[in-house]
Amino acid sequence: MLKITPVVYMHLSHILWLRFFGHDFTIIICHTLEIVNGGGACYNTPMSQTISTQAIVLRAADYGEADRMLTLLSPEHGKISAKVRGCRKAGAKLAAAAQVFQSGEYFFAQKSGRLTLAQCLPGEGYYGLRQSLPGLTTAAYFCNLCEEAALPGQSDPELYNLLREGLAALCQPEAPPNSVRGRFLMRFLVHQGYAPRLDFCASCHSPAEITLPRYTGYAWDPQAGGLICYDCIKKQPGIAGRMRLSADDVTTLRDLQYKPLNDQAELLPNIIDALQAFLHAHMDRRFHSLEMLSALSSFSTVAHSTRRSTSSST
Ligand SMILES: [Zn+2]
Repeated sequence: MLKITPVVYMHLSHILWLRFFGHDFTIIICHTLEIVNGGGACYNTPMSQTISTQAIVLRAADYGEADRMLTLLSPEHGKISAKVRGCRKAGAKLAAAAQVFQSGEYFFAQKSGRLTLAQCLPGEGYYGLRQSLPGLTTAAYFCNLCEEAALPGQSDPELYNLLREGLAALCQPEAPPNSVRGRFLMRFLVHQGYAPRLDFCASCHSPAEITLPRYTGYAWDPQAGGLICYDCIKKQPGIAGRMRLSADDVTTLRDLQYKPLNDQAELLPNIIDALQAFLHAHMDRRFHSLEMLSALSSFSTVAHSTRRSTSSST
């Protein structure tokens, strides 16, 4: 009878080295291929050394002389980290696959517990984003948010589809990037489980009846979770100084939860500010992309004022 004895068991890779006594060779059986990704998440791909998945590149960082490290978002595997060898050389076939915002079917090989990009069938590259600096910066902000929200190895097709929809909306020249950002923020908050309370007062839980004649505007309190009614504003003087929302503002916010991101209606700045403040209250993370968006917005306001004063003086 053939006797099989396990000689070494390697925990991380689940590779069993089995030696057949009586024979002069050693074989390796990959019982389960465990691919360790970046922060330590694992994908189990039985009897295989590659995985393939749809993905979008969230981040790309040059590495070594000609390589690049990618962070990608996949519907099935969440956040993925992978190396692309030689993609910065002239004529490299994986050069396009290693660009931020590129999507497609990505094929990864595993070696020593790390992923290396082996092949890519390119999909949408969202090249329209390069037409406008605000659009490009907003797209980078979307990628930053998704990278923060996604977990390695955890399936999240809703987040993946939200990012796809957001990048596609930003490619449309008629869709103002700030308005796309406002819609994205609302959908992102809902996805993360931080949907603002828009139908009830976040303090006393009375229904938010914005159509009543006595309606004088709700306060917006991100820390409390949404709207604060007039009665609660009177009882808590500290709330009186908070941002106020009109009945139209509340209606707009309610509609944002269901509207597509490529809706061409322009959102008022106070709606975007309200959602941005809400996100900051629940995700205490600052991004350079958002700082740059703020700088671009300030520059745009100053340039607009300068143009108006110049035209009125001539
Ligand atoms: Zn109240």
